Amino acid sequence: LEQLSSQAATTINRANVYAEILKHATLDALTGFYNRRQLEERVKQEVSSAKRQKRNLCAIMTDIDFFKSVNDTYGHAAGDLVLKTVSRIIKSQLREYDIAGRYGGEEFVILLPYTKLEEAKMVAERLRSAVEAKKIDISKILPDKTNIGVTISLGVAQYNTGDYEKIFIQNADKALYKAKENGRNRVVTYENI
Ligand code: GH3
Ligand code: MG
Ligand code: MG
Repeated sequence: LEQLSSQAATTINRANVYAEILKHATLDALTGFYNRRQLEERVKQEVSSAKRQKRNLCAIMTDIDFFKSVNDTYGHAAGDLVLKTVSRIIKSQLREYDIAGRYGGEEFVILLPYTKLEEAKMVAERLRSAVEAKKIDISKILPDKTNIGVTISLGVAQYNTGDYEKIFIQNADKALYKAKENGRNRVVTYENI
């Protein structure tokens, strides 16, 4: 029995190590979102099932406004905390089957399966206002400072059957660019540009 339980322990340990390796290979350490590579994999999968099952799919691309100045003013550690907080806010607003990935530095992509453009726009607006409302406590990093606030800009696009997945994400990115151009802290849908 002892031998058996020792073997079982080794197996469990191996499984844990494997799960840990898998986590590091697929998830971004700071935000817990999918990393870029895994995100691209998920975009492919979601586009292919949307095509096959003829169902709606939308993407939101979002980027923190003036994030460089957060780093410059409060330091990189405070910047990291802001990044973590924003990702947590995003997560809290999403459904279980929505997919969030870290696309670049402070840029996230959110895939919304079974979702029409109008609904995706509402989700984006909800994310925008939740981030705007949040006071981020940085006193643990800078004891003489308390709360700081940030905003995000968002671009929304619907997947059009037949489009390459790259075009789909590019459309969300174009809308995001437009949101920045129009003054930031806002949502722009690809149909409107
Ligand atoms: P915009 O409103 O146009 O987006 O302005 P911005 O300053 O946010 O944009 P920009 O792309 O110029 O700056 C992004 C900054 O994000 C620069 C980089 O130092 C910072 N950044 C990227 N990844 C991380 C990270 O993991 N941690 C921290 N603290 N900063 C990061
Ligand atoms: Mg930015
Ligand atoms: Mg950026």
